[in-house]
Amino acid sequence: MLSREQTTPIPNTGVMPTLGDTSVGLCQRAWVEINLAALTNNVQQLKRFLKPGTDLMAVVKADAYGHGAVTVSKTALKAGATWLGVATVEEGIALREADITAPILILGAVNTPEQIRAIAAWQLQPTLCTPQQALVFSETLAAIDQTLPVHLKLDTGMSRLGMPWQEALEFVELVKCLPALKIASIYSHLATADDPNPMVVKLQHQRFEEAIAQIRVAGMAHHKLHLANSAGTLSDRALHYDMVRVGLGLYGLYPAEHLSHSVQLQPALQVKARVTQVKTIVAGTGVSYSYRFVAEREMRLAVVGIGYADGVPRSLSNKLTVLIRGQKVQQVGAITMDQLMLDVSQIPDLQPGEVVTLIGKDGEWQISADDWAETLETISWEILCGFKQRLPRVTVG
Ligand SMILES: *Cc1c(COP(=O)(O)O)cnc(C)c1O
Repeated sequence: MLSREQTTPIPNTGVMPTLGDTSVGLCQRAWVEINLAALTNNVQQLKRFLKPGTDLMAVVKADAYGHGAVTVSKTALKAGATWLGVATVEEGIALREADITAPILILGAVNTPEQIRAIAAWQLQPTLCTPQQALVFSETLAAIDQTLPVHLKLDTGMSRLGMPWQEALEFVELVKCLPALKIASIYSHLATADDPNPMVVKLQHQRFEEAIAQIRVAGMAHHKLHLANSAGTLSDRALHYDMVRVGLGLYGLYPAEHLSHSVQLQPALQVKARVTQVKTIVAGTGVSYSYRFVAEREMRLAVVGIGYADGVPRSLSNKLTVLIRGQKVQQVGAITMDQLMLDVSQIPDLQPGEVVTLIGKDGEWQISADDWAETLETISWEILCGFKQRLPRVTVG
């Protein structure tokens, strides 16, 4: 639920937000504010928590979970992350076009020769999951006389991408025979690391260890190993290996309540919009499409310039709480594509242009993506990724 602030407050510098690289200003009706100081804090906190010698990969797929991939990547690298993780070739290229030179791992699978040539041209690093894929890479790279570092993915129980762990050794042996491919790491992904019951994680950890042991016994050199996402990172240092791949934690959210005690993270994203009109409606007045709210008494109603086309889910209609002037305010009626309405009877002198915080902190109240996720019975990851490009990203801190 909506909480009084629990995390360390982000210092208020009193400075007006500066423009992000979107060149859109505060004349905007609605925007996403990204706090670079919070991102830096999160990277530093995570780094401090890692087993000594462990690299931190900042997972910046899906436009850095809606935070803006270029800004987040540059900030995270400056703060101590050494690798970047993306989902697609296009996401990797966008970072290279922004002059980012750090190693970039593509976490998704890539199969076509066109994609492979793009990976080579932009010096990205692919994930290989099957022998067929390794052979296509090998042929395509041989034809252009290039070599690539590759990362072998094992399926230890996620049942998504990866070679079944029992076949790890054969897979490694095959890739070793392909001169265009240099194994840069071997990795796997955890399915249930946010579950307080560690049983499946233990099983996956054991399978990963078994596969690696076989590869070592077969006399193959030591490879960089990685297994943990945010939840794995926060739950057990034995899962850190040579690198951790952290997404959610970087953005200041915890994968689960029971994992929220070891590091102090600060949410880096706030969503804000402006009041566009204020009026009084009489008892019995219906509000918005289908009259899903009808005023029981005379009330002050505010219209706000943000809606479901910006990423405020329509299913939050009548269930959303926002913050204005440090007070909690109830949203009423159906959320529409570009606008939503609030019951602002408690602030009768509210003016158009005033700022509404949908996610973030105002006074002593804080609303997080976790609150929305709880109401919507989903996860905070989906909430963060849901904020659309129409909302300019403005950086502060
Ligand atoms: C997205 C992703 C991560 C990051 O997950 P978080 O839970 O956000 O930390 C790590 N590894 C892989 C393979 C991923 O796809």
